[in-house]
Amino acid sequence: MQQNLRVPGPTPVPDGVAQAGAQPMINHRGPEFATVMREVIENLKPFFGAADDPLILTGSGTGAQEAAVVNVLSPGDPVLAVVGGVFGARFAEIADAFGADIRRLDVEWGTAAGPEAVAEALRGFPASAVILTHNETSTGVTNDIPTLTRSIRAHRPEATILVDGVSSIGALPFDLDGWDVDVAVSGSQKAWMSPPGLAMAAVSSRGWDAYSRARMPRYYWDFRKASKNGAKGTTPFTPAVGVVRAMQEALRLMTGEGTEAVFARHARIGEAVRDGITALGLELFARPEVASNTVTAVRVPGSLDAAKLIKQLRERHGVVVASGQDWLKGSIFRIGHMGYVRDEDIDHLLQSLAAVLSDKSLERAV
Ligand SMILES: *Cc1c(COP(=O)(O)O)cnc(C)c1O
Repeated sequence: MQQNLRVPGPTPVPDGVAQAGAQPMINHRGPEFATVMREVIENLKPFFGAADDPLILTGSGTGAQEAAVVNVLSPGDPVLAVVGGVFGARFAEIADAFGADIRRLDVEWGTAAGPEAVAEALRGFPASAVILTHNETSTGVTNDIPTLTRSIRAHRPEATILVDGVSSIGALPFDLDGWDVDVAVSGSQKAWMSPPGLAMAAVSSRGWDAYSRARMPRYYWDFRKASKNGAKGTTPFTPAVGVVRAMQEALRLMTGEGTEAVFARHARIGEAVRDGITALGLELFARPEVASNTVTAVRVPGSLDAAKLIKQLRERHGVVVASGQDWLKGSIFRIGHMGYVRDEDIDHLLQSLAAVLSDKSLERAV
């Protein structure tokens, strides 16, 4: 049975994208590959809102988070990390592991970070960099990045602002240049309807200034190497050639649909998921006004067994959703609706969920 893969990454890949990725191998130092790379880089720009070329890195989203950290920070740098879930915490842990002086601003999970709280944190802690998560995949919350960057700039105009856009860029509006973000990263298997294996980063001119001062150890993730190579249509090391070709096709589809139409589709489908979930009598984990249009976290009623619910959706209906992470394991499940997602996928998911919920065997033994 063809699965309705509704985890927040990896996400489904259209047939044409899968085929593009399965073509015979080519020389990654040859002219064919350079043409592919140039097209991918050009087509990424409007989704990052970056005039300069985004960088292509081979790795997962976590690798891209690490790349962001090691390219613009130095050991001992005072860094404010805004944490509202598992991925914000991971970004802070990486910076901590490389020796940054991390101050965490913990935001209640399921809510968005507020500009006042960030301003208040910066008054007490003169950070030279701030770490933000655009879309917190563990809770289904989208943070308002431009509002947060304005608040940061008002207090620390020269701070380097790092944004995890792994589960947002490509699906939700993003504007590195307009929002005054310095480093933004993403991953191929989330909103880009491509297989896992590539990470992307966009860097502002302030980000490049930070790069020239940064002293954290780095080798594989060096932005300058990636940038110099990218300009020539190459990569410093052997890239995931098949994934670059898959992304070429995925980006053709996304560009053909149009950036605004891609964002509008995600907004419409996000709303349809939330409406469908509440119509089934279930509660959303995220506050509705900050609920994400790429991933929805759903509370599992205390009377039901979350693991059984997830298992029945998969076994009986071919619908694959994700469990909660960290302390939310067992109390929520998460639905991915980014990248290759159509209305009929969501209708099928909601019908399957309705069928599973009507099954008495889901009730916990008391
Ligand atoms: C998935 C995800 C990551 C980690 O990406 P991997 O590819 O699993 O390493 C980081 N941040 C966010 C917001 C994510 O959704």
